[in-house]
Amino acid sequence: MRTIIEPFRIKSVEPLHHTTPEERERCLVDAGYNLFLIPARDILIDLLTDSGTSAMSTGQWAAVMRGDESYAGSDSFFRLKAVAADLTGFRHMIPTHQGRAAERILFTVMCKPGHIVPSNTHFDTTRANIEFTGARAVDLPVPEAADTQARLDFKGNMDVAALESLIAAEGAERIPLAMLTITNNSGGGQPVSMANIEAVKNVCARHGIPLYLDACRFAENAWFIREREPGYGDWSPKRIAQKMFSLGDGCTFSAKKDAFANIGGFLCSNDDRVAQQETNLLILTEGFPTYGGLAGRDLDAIATGLEEVLDPDYLRYRIVSTGYLGRHIADRGVPIVEPPGGHAIYIDAARMLPHIPPCQFPGQALAVELYRHAGIRSVEIGSVMFGAAAQHELLRLAIPRRVYTQSHIDYVVEAILEVNARKDRIRGLEIVEEPPFLRHFSARFRPLA
Ligand SMILES: *Cc1c(COP(=O)(O)O)cnc(C)c1O
Repeated sequence: MRTIIEPFRIKSVEPLHHTTPEERERCLVDAGYNLFLIPARDILIDLLTDSGTSAMSTGQWAAVMRGDESYAGSDSFFRLKAVAADLTGFRHMIPTHQGRAAERILFTVMCKPGHIVPSNTHFDTTRANIEFTGARAVDLPVPEAADTQARLDFKGNMDVAALESLIAAEGAERIPLAMLTITNNSGGGQPVSMANIEAVKNVCARHGIPLYLDACRFAENAWFIREREPGYGDWSPKRIAQKMFSLGDGCTFSAKKDAFANIGGFLCSNDDRVAQQETNLLILTEGFPTYGGLAGRDLDAIATGLEEVLDPDYLRYRIVSTGYLGRHIADRGVPIVEPPGGHAIYIDAARMLPHIPPCQFPGQALAVELYRHAGIRSVEIGSVMFGAAAQHELLRLAIPRRVYTQSHIDYVVEAILEVNARKDRIRGLEIVEEPPFLRHFSARFRPLA
């Protein structure tokens, strides 16, 4: 059989709430045309993020009931520790309430003012946590990644020659660690090849620089390696993931992505001294080292999710279903970032709406129009989010894991194609109110005439 189906059936359902066009228009006015400010009950299909929005399995809900809420030394912790050790091979693992807490602890221990931390592309919380220590976060993506239309297999890779030049120019002693984000979220959910991880590891090892993986979407990355990189076609996703982790000296992880959990994360390291300092900080803000800001039931849900996510049937469905949305709009004339990534489709709003200049926020205008037309929530990743530093004007449609069926996605495709058919009539926006930082969460807009 060639038809790829959702590899699950539905036991518990959550009703969706339809709104009328008049109700949506009122929601938009009340929210100042910022979709973050619209109550979730007024959204029909929510593609704001794939973070913490996964559907948990029967196995995970059973694990929740088994959760041991002992303050110290809970069974749940030891179950997660065993799963994480088997998967990653790292000597130390501390749980955190989400990925950014792991980042804050890691960089507080490793970074000082004047330090530099290179990555293929830092995620926004990663960059913010590095810069908060006074260190500098440097992105070194491969040059081909800048072309949104180039259809390459591993556009998430790091530019290894640029890493060598950075080390030569700045000195290895100023680089306390290097990172690789897999998959490369800010770079469009594009994968990183095993060859690239190996090459980066070799350079780092030669200079005594530890390599950390930002491993939020490690399983999606492993699947892309299996499908696209010669030599891995008959490897299990787990074996590929184990090899990826074996090349790192530690990792940060948000369990809200590839562990199907609604909250949680962890930080791993092979360095005993670093791990001791991390544990000391963990106690200060997160909690005792065997729960680290989470309930026992969360630890158990994460442990089960980490095993489920490596199921080949799930990963095949996941990557194929994201590509389904991408191909169905791109092949009918909607410009997307090519090729489709693992967790999201990005529409190139500047290309789609050339009559709206960046200062009038084409990505935001498109997000507003898609909500107005069909009740779909997406998010702008462009000049609203990054101001003058924005390199592209994108609209991200993130796909929650195991949540929407193909008919939901067909509805999204139809809505996007209808909006595309009358795109010339979409107008830009201006900001009428904004906070001093992270303005995309709370800014208010006004449509231009
Ligand atoms: C989500 C994410 C983070 C941060 O994790 P949170 O759980 O949201 O704090 C870090 N890096 C990447 C690549 C992410 O996608």
